[in-house]
Amino acid sequence: MSFVKENVNRQPIVDTVFAIVKKAKEDKEKIGEENVVDATIGSLYNEQGSLVALDSVFSSLKSLDNKVLAAYAASFTGNDDFKDRVYKWVLNGNSHLHHEVIATPGGTGAVAMTIQECLDAGQTVILPEIAWGSYNLMAQMNNLSVKTYALFEEDHFNLTSFKETCEQVMKEQDKLVIVINDPCHNPTGYSLSSQEWKDVIAFLNECSKTHKVVLLNDIAYIDFAYGQKLAKEYFSVFDDISENMAVIVAFSLSKSMTSYGLRCGAAIVMAQTEDIVQELKIVFEKDARATWSNINNGAMAAFVDVMDHHLKEYDQERLQYVALLKERSELFVKEANEVGLKHYPYKEGFFVTLSMDNTTRDIYHEALMKNHIYTVKVNKGIRVAVCSLSLDKIKGLAKKMKDILDTIQ
Ligand code: PLP
Repeated sequence: MSFVKENVNRQPIVDTVFAIVKKAKEDKEKIGEENVVDATIGSLYNEQGSLVALDSVFSSLKSLDNKVLAAYAASFTGNDDFKDRVYKWVLNGNSHLHHEVIATPGGTGAVAMTIQECLDAGQTVILPEIAWGSYNLMAQMNNLSVKTYALFEEDHFNLTSFKETCEQVMKEQDKLVIVINDPCHNPTGYSLSSQEWKDVIAFLNECSKTHKVVLLNDIAYIDFAYGQKLAKEYFSVFDDISENMAVIVAFSLSKSMTSYGLRCGAAIVMAQTEDIVQELKIVFEKDARATWSNINNGAMAAFVDVMDHHLKEYDQERLQYVALLKERSELFVKEANEVGLKHYPYKEGFFVTLSMDNTTRDIYHEALMKNHIYTVKVNKGIRVAVCSLSLDKIKGLAKKMKDILDTIQ
């Protein structure tokens, strides 16, 4: 008998990021910041090496009345004005489905709630093979099995693997719950083309003839997609989902507003019928009440204020960083291609990931650290956080990394 429930995994959490962040910090203190490449940090940093906190967002937050910051939210699903602005901002007129918005603590809350409430213990959730680590932990905490689909076939989305994985799971259960982290996939930086999205939806519509289908589209990085508004047009493909399918879009203010610590986001539930939306909303609302109760009122109010009164400043400020991210990633990818440093197909977003098997990865990761280059290990790769590396640090980095790789091969 133990103090925690019987059916919970008791292994300590393996945090592959924070341990390396700590090592990088110690190295910087020892040999000087300028001699260390710290490509571990998954938040947006400016060229001077500090965290970006958008003025338009934080001036708005600080100008709120103390009572607004102090108050509970208007309901367990969030404030009405917040839900309305989230829906409009995220979908940008590209969806005509029935919908509800539930405010959540970050994108994490939206993803966790979906995984927890849409599957029973023992069932299987479908995840990308290379993915944000929390998905697996969420599955584990809910006693779910995981099946993964390979992400790529050459330089494009691996629809064949996606289909095979879904077909396997359909043999075992009457429902599919699938995570697609798009656009700006973490950690590869891939984004599906609109044709790839159409193919995915056409296939899932077929599956939904015999099985219920829940598609969880995690869009944590969408506001840093290089196409901006164009990057939201794929949502219109969801208008074609069948009546036996639901889409849950997990939105996060963490990246969009650079407000990681405010813990605010939303689950946008969409379906062809109001019945499906309400079934999910009722359960999600109770899940919210039973876990976090309600969401940070100040964060919601600041989002509404930015949308209503400071949209221009916010767009201008954010777009500067979108351009910077593009410049950084283009430089790294160009140099990587020149020296033959292999990476997964990158289109946009915070990270580029080098492709290799896990044995090489482990040796390489150590070798990089010996050379004062700090990265994050992911399944079948090494993640390079271009979001936090200055152009100066990126210049020549791919060559250095390739030379180190050559010494271990
Ligand atoms: N989804 C992905 C792929 C992420 O990388 C993150 C954060 O790193 C999140 C969701 C959720 O972030 P938050 O809970 O801070 O919104």
